[in-house]
Amino acid sequence: MTDLTADAVSTDLEALQLHLRSILASVPDGMIVINEKGQILAFSSAAEKLFGYKAEDVIGQDVSQLMGGHDQSNHQNYIGAYLKTGKRHIIGVGRVVSAKRSDGTMFPVDLKIGEARVGDSFLFTAFVRDLSEQRRNELRMQEMQAELVHFSRMSAVGTMASALAHELNQPLTAVANYLEAGRDLLDSDSEDAHEILHEALDEASRQAVRAGEIVRKLRGYVSRGEIDARSVPLTPLLTDSIALARISGDLADIPIDKQIVSDIGAVMADPIQVQQVIINLLRNAAEALHGVAAPQIFLGASRGPDDFITVEVCDNGPGMSEEVRQTLFKPFMTSKSQGMGLGLSICQTIVEAHGGKIEAIPSADGGTCFRFTLRRDAAS
Ligand code: ADP
Repeated sequence: MTDLTADAVSTDLEALQLHLRSILASVPDGMIVINEKGQILAFSSAAEKLFGYKAEDVIGQDVSQLMGGHDQSNHQNYIGAYLKTGKRHIIGVGRVVSAKRSDGTMFPVDLKIGEARVGDSFLFTAFVRDLSEQRRNELRMQEMQAELVHFSRMSAVGTMASALAHELNQPLTAVANYLEAGRDLLDSDSEDAHEILHEALDEASRQAVRAGEIVRKLRGYVSRGEIDARSVPLTPLLTDSIALARISGDLADIPIDKQIVSDIGAVMADPIQVQQVIINLLRNAAEALHGVAAPQIFLGASRGPDDFITVEVCDNGPGMSEEVRQTLFKPFMTSKSQGMGLGLSICQTIVEAHGGKIEAIPSADGGTCFRFTLRRDAAS
């Protein structure tokens, strides 16, 4: 009788083991069973493919070898903390983490963990789904969107630049003509030469003022009440701006230290225009960093003053002279041979049209900090 029961039990056990083996062979996600010490007890066929290990090579090994960075060194503490406090951080919840293949390469996975109590101890079963393909697609989508935004912005800038060139051509040609005529009059003995010269210079100065007005109108055009201000979460806006600037190659490999207050919330803004400001500042910073030994850009965002949020773009470049600082936001002020000197002027127009302010201050390490404010969405 006793033997019969033992037989039944062993048959059950065998059946269970067979069942487990068939699960391990067919479960589509990587499945890894570990004990409380983090030792691997079972490793499914899909996990073998994902990680590039054979089950027999990893069974009995520490599971942390399948993880990267922080998780690798802390995994045993996670289990310890869970067993002690019963507080679930990942069990039953799922999380996206980095996993490590046998060749050391990392890949993103969706990790879900289930637990089972066996007598006094626990077994944990991890289900691992490879997200590499999904991430690649997401990234490609983002890149395509970024290219699209960049393209439409470039064509808008192109249209504006040719309109500007066309409009400015006329008064500037007039200025040149009046001045040339004036120069010729200087050598003339004619009686009324002095009077005509007077008129020519008057006219030249009127045309120069007109050219200035065209530029002012252009600045108005950039922000002509067309601000479609809405609540925009700031962190993704800043991150997208960096991505856009990187895609255009303007930032080279300069590292960007991003310090955005975690509860920064949202701003009331036209996202495309604000992106234009940030990209401009990043590009200027990168240009100022040409030839600097350890170039570094800092992008920060914090709350305040009052109902505003302050965004800062700093660099550890050579800084700027007082003279440049004075004229920084004036159109056509540039120290670059290829520069248009319109970037900061447009930045100022956009920021002010949003109700904010922009200024340049020296940074602690001798470079430059551009700081601007945007209205915070009080509801965020
Ligand atoms: P552009 O970049 O076409 O010259 P901007 O209006 O963007 O036009 O910039 C005007 C000038 O301000 C630049 O030519 C440069 O001299 C100065 N400048 C802007 N940003 C920086 C910076 N981060 N560091 C030093 N100088 C800067």
